[in-house]
Amino acid sequence: MKNIQRYDVLVLGSGAAGLSLALRLSPHISIAVISKRELHEGSTFYAQGGISAVLDPRDSVDSHIQDTLKAGGALCDRDVVRQVVERGPDAIRWLLDQGVHFTRDEDADRESEYHLTREGGHTHRRVIHAADATGKEVQSTLTERMGERANVDLYEDHNAVDLITTNKMGIEENRCVGAYVLDRRSGQVTTLVARFVVVATGGASKVYLYTSNPDIATGDGIAMAWRAGCRVANMEFMQFHPTCLYHPKAKSFLITEALRGEGARLLLPDGERFMPRFDERAELAPRDIVARAIDHEMKRLGAECLYLDISHRPADFVQSHFPTIYRRCLEYGVDITRESIPVVPAAHYTCGGVLVDTRARTDLPGLYAIGEAAYTGLHGANRMASNSLLECLVYSDLAAQDIEKSLGEPPVERSQVPPWDASRVTEPDEEIVVAHNWEELRRFMWDYVGIVRTNKRLRRAKRRVDLLRQEIIEYYSNFRVSNDLLELRNLVDVADLIIRSALCRRESRGLHYTLDFPYKDASQRTPTILIPDSYRPRRRS
Ligand SMILES: Cc1cc2nc3c(=O)[nH]c(=O)nc-3n(C[C@H](O)[C@H](O)[C@H](O)COP(=O)(O)OP(=O)(O)OC[C@H]3O[C@@H](n4cnc5c(N)ncnc54)[C@H](O)[C@@H]3O)c2cc1C
Repeated sequence: MKNIQRYDVLVLGSGAAGLSLALRLSPHISIAVISKRELHEGSTFYAQGGISAVLDPRDSVDSHIQDTLKAGGALCDRDVVRQVVERGPDAIRWLLDQGVHFTRDEDADRESEYHLTREGGHTHRRVIHAADATGKEVQSTLTERMGERANVDLYEDHNAVDLITTNKMGIEENRCVGAYVLDRRSGQVTTLVARFVVVATGGASKVYLYTSNPDIATGDGIAMAWRAGCRVANMEFMQFHPTCLYHPKAKSFLITEALRGEGARLLLPDGERFMPRFDERAELAPRDIVARAIDHEMKRLGAECLYLDISHRPADFVQSHFPTIYRRCLEYGVDITRESIPVVPAAHYTCGGVLVDTRARTDLPGLYAIGEAAYTGLHGANRMASNSLLECLVYSDLAAQDIEKSLGEPPVERSQVPPWDASRVTEPDEEIVVAHNWEELRRFMWDYVGIVRTNKRLRRAKRRVDLLRQEIIEYYSNFRVSNDLLELRNLVDVADLIIRSALCRRESRGLHYTLDFPYKDASQRTPTILIPDSYRPRRRS
């Protein structure tokens, strides 16, 4: 491969956000899509529950908006919520046009053609799904469509290392003009130059020891955009999924909320149902409340896990609605039609991210951010279940429209992009040090910056992050980049952003809960926005 490649659009990430964007763009422009592993490997593939949209005539846009605002702890941007909810039905139609097969409704009483399920925080059935493997169906279909596009170059097993900006080339007017990309197989770094760059790299839940997310979720796009001068918002709001399967061999297997939507109950080890003690919505309370209740009960009882039980529903109903969960649990010796499932909470969703406007534009001209990597204002202090895939679909469409419009403008000079400096060497003991630092970071983030926080613990975590950062800067400057080093560098940046945001919020709201300030404070009803040193306000058109 040549060391510099040029495209109209460079998309970093191949999940629901990245692929939808690439498919929405005209087939006449040149596009590169970069994926850290295989094209399908990202959170999208593992999404189980479904996608929320107003599809039932008895439901309404206003009701979806109200539910989202309520879950978001009064911190959502109302205009953004309306924009996303109103576009929901079109986004689902687009997926159907791409060939996605959603589960049909066999109940003649219901007016929707498709089966709609209900999840925590939703007051109506509005979650369209493909059994309990919605993400797999969406990702596989979009991947298939992508393969049919002759105008798209797909780079699997490639890591975006850093964004390239004109400021770094000595040009006064700042703009993103590409990215350096590491080929994981050859170890070579290529320079990809583009008129528009889109960060669609997903979330950052790998910063925690226990997570439902796949390994790629190391917050790379958030860290890269921050380093390039973009503001980042609401990073203190990390969502912990209340129910991941607890088994030494099950690597972060999530038990979908839809199980609770269909009547599953949370139980203590002695079989007592406890959620009604914490919230009148019991098991259907929003995730933060359920996760905190489980955390509280586990700590109170010193229990390693609690239990989720759906065995009171007919076995054929459970098997047909939750085939994946049924099969996976059975592999670990748990028959969910007859016994309860051992569960623990795990880091699940990054509500904050790169701050964007209603067209998905970041602070850096030429750079967009979409999907879980972005902060749009939709989720506020807490994401409502199944709103995230919806956000991926809506914002990829908005970004595509904006890019199409801007492609008519004359391109900026991109000929002087500096090539990657490949003079660094590999240090023999580098890998073991990196591995230890990874482990240390994820453990102290879990212990000190997890579901329940205090200022003392946050400050302790901050000191450790600062030390780690110094070591990593040294490694990064002197040694050849590897996947693990790049991810660790990004995780440390993201951990720092989470801790700093958490220290800024001197109240408890949504997903951010601190024992030092256990109540909401109306004067803090604003997002937490962190501003990098290299930030320059952009002129908006
Ligand atoms: C187990 C699970 C269940 C979920 N269930 C639901 C659900 O039912 N409904 C719902 O709405 N949401 C759900 N979510 C959340 C939702 O799946 C995600 O928010 C959404 O899929 C994110 O899509 P994305 O395209 O932004 O990122 P992802 O799908 O995570 O894709 C990120 C992409 O970026 C690439 N990438 C990352 N870093 C780099 C880099 N440095 N260089 C190049 N490429 C890079 C990755 O390789 C990948 O291709 C779930 C999440 C999980 C983990």
